Amino acid sequence: MSTALPIVEIRDQLKAACAAHRRIIIRAPTGSGKSTQIPQYLLDDGCLRDGKVVVLQPRRLATRLLANRVAHERGVKLGDEVGYQIRFEDVSNDYTRIKYETEGILLRQLLSDPEIRDVDAILFDEFHERHLYGDIMLARAVQLQQTTRPDLLILVMSATLDTLPLQEYLSDAKLLTSEGRTYDVDISYRDKPLHPRHDNVMEAAAEAMEELLRRDVPGDALIFMPGAYEIQKTIQALQQQTRCRDCLILPLHGELPPHQQDAAVDSYAQRKIIVSTNVAETSVTIDGIRIVIDSGLARVARFDPHRSINTLWIEKVSRASADQRAGRAGRTAPGHCFRLWTEREHGERPLHETPEIRRVDLSEALLNLKAIGLADLTAFPWFEPPDPRTMQRAVQLLEDLGAMEEDSGAITALGRKMASFPMHPRYARMLLAAESYQCVRQVALVAALTQGRTILTRRANKDTRSQRDDVLGEEAPSDFFRLMRAWHYAFRNQFDLRRCQNMGVHAQSARQVHRVYESFLRMAKQQGLTINERAGDDELLCKCVLAGFADQVAQRRDQSTRNCVVVHGRTGQLSSESIVDDPLFVAAAIDEIQRGQDGNVELQLATRIEVEWLQELFPSAVKTARHAVYDPKLKRVVQSQQKRYHDLVLESSSGGEPAPELAAQLLAEEVRRGNLAFNQWDDQVEQWILRLNNLATWCPDWELPAIGDEERNLLFEQLCLGCVTAKEVRTRPVWPVVKGFLSAQQLQLLQQHAPERLDIGGKRAFRLVYTAPPTPPSLSARIQELFGVKSLPTIAGGRIKPLVHLLAPNQRPVQITQDLPNFWREHYPGIRKELKRRYPKHAWPEDPEAPGK
Ligand code: ADP
Ligand code: MG
Repeated sequence: MSTALPIVEIRDQLKAACAAHRRIIIRAPTGSGKSTQIPQYLLDDGCLRDGKVVVLQPRRLATRLLANRVAHERGVKLGDEVGYQIRFEDVSNDYTRIKYETEGILLRQLLSDPEIRDVDAILFDEFHERHLYGDIMLARAVQLQQTTRPDLLILVMSATLDTLPLQEYLSDAKLLTSEGRTYDVDISYRDKPLHPRHDNVMEAAAEAMEELLRRDVPGDALIFMPGAYEIQKTIQALQQQTRCRDCLILPLHGELPPHQQDAAVDSYAQRKIIVSTNVAETSVTIDGIRIVIDSGLARVARFDPHRSINTLWIEKVSRASADQRAGRAGRTAPGHCFRLWTEREHGERPLHETPEIRRVDLSEALLNLKAIGLADLTAFPWFEPPDPRTMQRAVQLLEDLGAMEEDSGAITALGRKMASFPMHPRYARMLLAAESYQCVRQVALVAALTQGRTILTRRANKDTRSQRDDVLGEEAPSDFFRLMRAWHYAFRNQFDLRRCQNMGVHAQSARQVHRVYESFLRMAKQQGLTINERAGDDELLCKCVLAGFADQVAQRRDQSTRNCVVVHGRTGQLSSESIVDDPLFVAAAIDEIQRGQDGNVELQLATRIEVEWLQELFPSAVKTARHAVYDPKLKRVVQSQQKRYHDLVLESSSGGEPAPELAAQLLAEEVRRGNLAFNQWDDQVEQWILRLNNLATWCPDWELPAIGDEERNLLFEQLCLGCVTAKEVRTRPVWPVVKGFLSAQQLQLLQQHAPERLDIGGKRAFRLVYTAPPTPPSLSARIQELFGVKSLPTIAGGRIKPLVHLLAPNQRPVQITQDLPNFWREHYPGIRKELKRRYPKHAWPEDPEAPGK
């Protein structure tokens, strides 16, 4: 063990803390010895029982290097007392006491061993990086500690962490800090920003390196680049520089074989230049570095809406990250850092990186959590809960893929199988389908082709295109067949740049696909799938694509345009690049390109499918629904049946008798809208209703049921019951149903107190005209007809006086009144003369109230 490392100053405190606390936070600068020393202190100072300490690492490369280093420090063989485990590689045994692991591995272990009794302590290293699985594991560890494993020791370590939120989250955690030792680092920037097209960051880095060497700046150098490709290009550029050429130039990234990774951290007599990914930012410390050249870029995992999976994007690192990187130059002596961006641009960068939980798709993590038995994820003690929309998207996808039950949210048997695959659920689903159809090898390639950039150049010129079409073919049930042929072409030509270019194939992307393809095959093999050599049948391959992209089933609206509807209420256009011409297909990529104001969605990488396959693979998502509509052309209610995949209508047919209630509702709706009428529903019926409504308002104490809109619709429905055609509706007898609205007693009340006609003075029954309540009804009578009538009868049990429209012999209205005696008295004498003159043949008595002759 290295006693010289600064972290030794907290060794005693750590021992004491372990005796009194189960939660410890350790904050100490990078390079002070946290990752290599703390696990050893725990073991050597009796802080563990006879179990192990698991050291969780965000990166595979660091996991192996750290284990290697600690085994070396302790003089033991790697894989015994000190070991590590990453995907595809387990270098540990039952007696391992210090075990370095990537974060996802421990979560997978919980699948088979939920209480992890052999683990005494979990050490969360580099927690400030906030990787998704680190967050999830910490929450799970807290949950375990609160339930079945109160003895579990949780330690969280970080160089830069703002520890306050963490202290709040891990209540009663003991905080240990060590300041470490750092030296000044002189930071300089570019005067001018790099030109996005004319400059390249790899060459700029090499030039900056050459310049520092020309100025005789001492020490080894560390150059940060985002990925393997840029590292390789930087090394080529360095080799073009005279002074750089004399140095030992070494790459460091996760895709290198172990001996090359080891070579980068070894010490040499010669000056060395390490070109590394951000693994050297905090995870791995390389001694002797006094120069840092920073591209300011990193590959960052982020949800890609285009493919609905997480992809790595090259992004600018935050200021916090850049400071960490610069710090690597000042660990043992003062150093220099050169940033390949301007100081002004630096100020515009974000302060910190966004935690992964806020940028990535959660479906894989969610499936894992479901598989370890977490039913209710809202109760999961997240350090930072994910956005509910992100959660919802993940749930939806898992349901669509058949991994989760829609109603209960429980994991299905299939979901359980999928969870054991260390990959996105889409690909797990595809490979499982491939196993049953015996086409695992091809499906692994298809899965690899959906990741990363497309391998066909989009803007290939005409010659290239036609040549390409000759080789790739223009017809196939899936765009993947073309891609597969293109890829095989590139593979056969060993990804030769020129040949690929001639064919319109991206050599670099094809090579990347190769790596992903191989890793899919490896995972498939690890899961016990049979890797079949035999070429499978095309149809089966298409089914496997459907299995993985069940949430992106699309259907063309018609054959003349490329407009499509996509399941779950989306729309889009089939890409013009697609060779698929079928009405039903799955799109493995969905691209939202902005055109004008409304975003236009392009559906790419299409594969034709059949309705039967949906039924075969996703039986619970295919449902047949009966549906009835009123057809105005046929003038009748017609019944149709729809077969749907979620909300996508796959087939519809008409025929069969609709349910009577449903038909009645639809016909009544047409009546309500005025498109259809009952012949017998005439003015008399309306008057009847007005009589009832008025009486109900005049005499509320009688509790008569008025007929409002709702009751009227009910009457319509009742009338339509048993009808299917418009003709049947028209000839329906109306009165029995309308009158049936009232009881016999109520009918009698209506007849008596809101009569249709009013008998006046035994003379004649005058028709009463009712209007909307609360206006009294009116009757019209010629003046002479009322001679001898002293006063008018009332209605509604004496509460309402009808209105009288008094008419001249020519039917012209003379007066409207409710008070007949008043009319005779006040007005009649005045108009009598005039009436006499105009109608001399009529009798106009002086006393109109006198009983007539
Ligand atoms: P921290 O986790 O605090 O950043 P580490 O424990 O990773 O610190 O590293 C502490 C020191 O151990 C480094 O500064 C370096 O000197 C040494 N060291 C760590 N890993 C290696 C290695 N693989 N090879 C050589 N030296 C190493
Ligand atoms: Mg460390």
